[in-house]
Amino acid sequence: MPDIEFNKQTDFTAPDFRETAGLVYGSDVVQVENVLQKDRLSIRDLGVLLSPAAAQRLPAMAARAAELTALRFGRAIQLYTPLYLSSFCTNNCRYCGFAVGNQIERRVLSLDEAEREALLLAERGFSHLLLVAGEAPARMGVDYLEVLTGRLRGRFASISIEIQPLSEEDYRRLFRAGITSVAVYQETYDRDTYQKVHQAGPKADMTYRLATPARAAGAGMREVGLGALLGLADWRLEGIALGMHLAWLRTHYWQTALTVSFPRLRPAAGNFEPMVRVGEDDLAQLLFALRIFDHDVGLLLSTREEARFRNGMLGLAPTRYSAGSCTAPGGYSNPDQQGEQFAIDDQRTIEEVSRDIRARGFDPVRKDWDAVFQEVV
Ligand code: SF4
Repeated sequence: MPDIEFNKQTDFTAPDFRETAGLVYGSDVVQVENVLQKDRLSIRDLGVLLSPAAAQRLPAMAARAAELTALRFGRAIQLYTPLYLSSFCTNNCRYCGFAVGNQIERRVLSLDEAEREALLLAERGFSHLLLVAGEAPARMGVDYLEVLTGRLRGRFASISIEIQPLSEEDYRRLFRAGITSVAVYQETYDRDTYQKVHQAGPKADMTYRLATPARAAGAGMREVGLGALLGLADWRLEGIALGMHLAWLRTHYWQTALTVSFPRLRPAAGNFEPMVRVGEDDLAQLLFALRIFDHDVGLLLSTREEARFRNGMLGLAPTRYSAGSCTAPGGYSNPDQQGEQFAIDDQRTIEEVSRDIRARGFDPVRKDWDAVFQEVV
C-alpha cells in the first residue's frame, strides 16, 4: 500500500482494514528502531509502531513518548468530568448500556436538575465540563443545550459535548452559545464491524458519523475529540485509522486542537462480550504510538481504566484524565442513581486522583482555558 496522501477536495474515508493490515503485520524490530529515531512519522511509520514487533520495544517507545509529552505538555495533567444529561437513546449499539433495546431505568435531567448537577461539580473544583447524552434528539437537543450552556458558561472555563452528531449549522449555534469542543467517537473504523454492532437507528450511517468531526471543526469548535472503542475490531488497525483521521483533520482544519480517546469496553447492561481482547500492554502501545506519531494531540485516559494503570501511565503519553466520574444522569446528586451507561473502574475522588498525580511529580490542572479567550463569530 503506498503511503497516504490526502485529497484536499474529498471527505475523509475510513481505510480498508484488509489493506492497512499490511502496514502493521509485516514490520520487524529493526524497522521499529529506525522509526524511533525519526522526528516526523508517516502513516507507514505509525503502522510499524503498532506492529507486534514493536511490542518487544515497549520500554523504548514509552521513553520516546514520555520525552515528546514533556516537551509539548510539560508536567500538566488536565482533569475533567462528564455530566450525563440523558440516558435515552434511539440507537441500539450492542455494547452500550443505553442501547434502546436494554431495559434500564432512564431519565433526562430537567434544565434545573442539570444546572444543579453542574454546580455540584463546580463546587468539587471542576472547571472543564463535558456534557454527555444518549442520542435521542427529541428528548435532548440543541435548544436544551443552548439554554443550559447559557446558564453555565459563566461558571465553567470550558464546556464540551459528547452527544448525537449534529449539522454544521447546529454546531455553529452551540459554539455561539458557549460550547467550545465536541467529542464524537467513531467506535470502530472497520466497516464490517461497524455494521454488525450498529444495526438500527441513525448511527447505522457510518459515513455521516465519520464526517462529524469535520463538521464540528468547520463550525469553529476550538477542539474536536476522536476515539475508537477498543474491543470491537483489531486495535492495531484502529490505531492506523485514528492516525489517518488525525492527519486528515490537521490538513483541513489546522486551527482546531485534536484529542483522541481509547475507551476499552467495560461491563454494561446487555452483557456484550468484547469481540477482541485488548490488554493493558496493547493500550499502552497504542497510546505511545499515537504520541510519537502526533506530538500535539491530547490523549485521554478515562476512569474506565484501573487507578493502578492510570497512575503508571502518568507522564508517558496521556495528557487528560477524567476523575470522580458517574455515568448515570443525576448520579452526582444521588449516588444511588440507577441506569449507568457502563461501570467505571477507577472510583477515586478528584482529590485522591490529584494527590496521586502530585505524588508522582505532575501537576493536576483543573483549569487551562477560559471562555473569555473564545472569539465568537
Ligand atoms: S453508544 Fe451512544 S449511540 Fe450507542 S446506544 Fe450508547 S448512548 Fe446510544
